[in-house]
Amino acid sequence: MLRLWNTATKSLEEFKPIKKGKVGMYACGPTVYNPVHIGNLRTYIFEDVLKRTLELFGYDVHHVMNITDVGHLVGDGDMGQDKMEREASKTGKTAWDIAKRYEQLFDFDMQRLNIVSPVGKDRPHATEYIPQQESLVKKLEEKGYTYETSDGIYFDTAKFAGYGKLSGQKREDKEAGARVEVNEEKKHPADFALWKFSPEGEKRQMEWDFEGRKGFPGWHIECSAMSEAILDQPFDIHCGGVDHIPVHHENEIAQSEAAFDKPLANYWMHGEFLLVDGGRMGKSEGNAYLLDELVARGFDPLAFRYYCLGTHYRSKLNFTWEGLEGAQNALRHLQSEARKLERGARVDKTSLEAFNAALGDDLNTSKALAVLHDMLKSDVGADEKGATLIEMDQVLGLGLKEIVGKKIEIPEAIQALADERLEVRKNKDWKKSDELRDALKAKGWIVEDTKDSYELHPSA
Ligand code: AMP
Ligand code: ZN
Repeated sequence: MLRLWNTATKSLEEFKPIKKGKVGMYACGPTVYNPVHIGNLRTYIFEDVLKRTLELFGYDVHHVMNITDVGHLVGDGDMGQDKMEREASKTGKTAWDIAKRYEQLFDFDMQRLNIVSPVGKDRPHATEYIPQQESLVKKLEEKGYTYETSDGIYFDTAKFAGYGKLSGQKREDKEAGARVEVNEEKKHPADFALWKFSPEGEKRQMEWDFEGRKGFPGWHIECSAMSEAILDQPFDIHCGGVDHIPVHHENEIAQSEAAFDKPLANYWMHGEFLLVDGGRMGKSEGNAYLLDELVARGFDPLAFRYYCLGTHYRSKLNFTWEGLEGAQNALRHLQSEARKLERGARVDKTSLEAFNAALGDDLNTSKALAVLHDMLKSDVGADEKGATLIEMDQVLGLGLKEIVGKKIEIPEAIQALADERLEVRKNKDWKKSDELRDALKAKGWIVEDTKDSYELHPSA
């Protein structure tokens, strides 16, 4: 049985798809105006594990992730510059070039983390869905859910009875939490822009004609229009990071349900934050690490994936270098174990059942990892262990299934250096031992000390 936590009902629910054997799943993707950080990547890893778990449970998953390349304003509200246009004016590049460049970097990070990323039509760009967004705004206008101000067309949250149902926030509470930059013309702080008019006398790089005026879509309408166009409404699962619950997802629900009089999605799932020093890791907080920075410090990107899997997706994870180091060591251990196994035909059913049960229990990845480690320590044969590990790695995505049974060829010169290091360690010459470790590292080999000897791993 697969049970998932549904933010909408605040309960663990048995997953039941709309169409037998199929799952439609939509994830809010990045705004491509700068590189994604490892906090964002934690959310995408969670979504990847969710998708792979659904596949493990036999579903054919239609996973859609959008790319926001227009309409996301600085501060995430209705005021301020468009993040894409601001980056363009800062750098002198076009907004289109900025979008392309950061989407490529995003793809590179996704690949390095073994995240199976939606492609082609399942990777819609907001700028490719302008007609669908316009027609959604028109529909809302016709149904009386909108009003106009001098700078745009707004959704009137007073007209939508269910406003706030996802977050449990009342409309009145929005007053207190209103952002610093308030749009005085809005009837209520919770109201939000569906469509913004291009500012008077300003030529935007990204703008379109709508009802005779130039403008651009609001950030929330993008997801409502794209998910409906590609997955239909309702679809099964909508996911993102927890910060999206009170505003972005609440607004998506308001627009989509008001327009089509049916739910947007049946299950809402949200990944918790990656923290630094106990606070949110974010672009605007200035404390965000990039995957490149982890790699520059000698970490395998998959060590970060392992690190994330060690904590449940609904718990906060405080990022530390020591924690990442621990994850890297654990991953190295798994890699060297995997190489010693054989690619057998028969799996260890007991372990696999325990593994599936852990994931079926709202994606309990840390328990699934514990089952994997226990299986490796158990006395089942190397062939069965190999076959089981291959199955488990379909979901974990730690790059283990490829290396099961693949012994590493260690060049003689490397072996000699490592043997020399073992000797100097026996004589407690730690300085020389460290020098030899560095020399091996410079040649692309990591040496790990074991009780009486060592193990060598090629570095990432
Ligand atoms: P953004 O580009 O800010 O819209 O973020 C892209 C995705 O990353 C969204 O699903 C956010 O909820 C998520 N996100 C942003 N910061 C963090 C963080 N520190 N930890 C986990 N997820 C995050
Ligand atoms: Zn979205």
